[in-house]
Amino acid sequence: TRSTRPQRMLKAVQKNATKGNPESVISAIDYFCKNSEWAMNVGDEKGSILDSVVTEVNPSTVLELGTYCGYSTVRIARLLSPGTKLITLEFNPAYATVARQIIAYAGLQDKVTQVEGSSADLIPQIKERFSITTFDFIFLDHWKDRYLPDIKLFEECGLLRKGSVLLADNVICPGAPEYLEYVRNSPRYESRYYPAHLEYTKVEDGLEKSVFLG
Ligand code: SAM
Ligand code: MG
Repeated sequence: TRSTRPQRMLKAVQKNATKGNPESVISAIDYFCKNSEWAMNVGDEKGSILDSVVTEVNPSTVLELGTYCGYSTVRIARLLSPGTKLITLEFNPAYATVARQIIAYAGLQDKVTQVEGSSADLIPQIKERFSITTFDFIFLDHWKDRYLPDIKLFEECGLLRKGSVLLADNVICPGAPEYLEYVRNSPRYESRYYPAHLEYTKVEDGLEKSVFLG
C-alpha cells in the first residue's frame, strides 16, 4: 500500500539528516516540506519565534498539545536544560509512531515523554500520572477548537502558576478566534501576538503568547 506523508517525512529525515543532530533533523523536515510536500509542522519561520520563547522561559516542565511527526517536539527539546520534563500529546497512533522515530533519530528520546490520547482525557490525569505540579511552558498546536476548552481545563486542574507561559500556534490560520478573545480579554492573562506566516507559505498566521497572571 502507498506510504503516508508522515512516513515519507521520516524517510527524508533518515536519508538527509545526521543521527543525534537535531538541527539537521529540523532542516531535513523543512526542506521536505518546502520542496516535496506541505505538512502541518510549525515550520521554520514560526519555529524561530517558538525557539526564542522557549529560551526566554527556560522551563523545567513543558507540555505540548499535538505532536504530529515530532518536528516542534525536536525544536523544543533541543533547547531544554538537563532534567527538564517535556510531555507531548498526540491522539493519532500512526503519527505518534512516526514522531517516536524522528525524536529518537534526533537523539532526544530521553528528554521527551510521548503520550497517546486526547487532550480532554489527559489534562485532568496529568498531575497524578506524571507527578507534575504546574507547567512552566505549554505549546498549543492541536485542533484549534480545543484551545479554549483546554486552557479552561488547565485552570480548573491547577496546572498553571503565576508566570506560566502558553504559546498558541495558528491563531490566525486556521484560526482560534474564541481562544484569542478569551486570553486577550481575561484579566488573568497578559497576551501578545507574534505575526508570521502559515508554515511554508506566505499566508498570514501567527503565535499568541499568553502569560498566566494567577
Ligand atoms: N506541533 C506539531 C509540529 O509543529 O510539528 C504539529 C501538530 S499538528 C498541527 C496537530 C496534531 O494534533 C495532529 O497530529 C492531531 O492528530 C493532533 N490532535 C488534534 N487534536 C488533538 C487532541 N484533542 N488531543 C490530542 N491530539 C490532538
Ligand atoms: Mg501549527
